[in-house]
Amino acid sequence: MLLPLPPFFPHRRNTDGSFDSICLKCLLTIAHERNEGDLAKYERYHVCNPSVISQRVFDTAHENGRNSA
Ligand SMILES: [Zn+2]
Repeated sequence: MLLPLPPFFPHRRNTDGSFDSICLKCLLTIAHERNEGDLAKYERYHVCNPSVISQRVFDTAHENGRNSA
């Protein structure tokens, strides 16, 4: 059974003091705000559209896990 990745959005602080929110599933910077608290509303409504590259990394990780079992 394949479990979907839970959405996870680490925040990155920029040199100008603003914050980026990054989706670890599709590897996109989904929001850029001066206040870190303002990132949550973008994360709530983010629609994930994983790129071919990130999907391949995810699939490869799953295949490797399966083969080693
Ligand atoms: Zn995403």
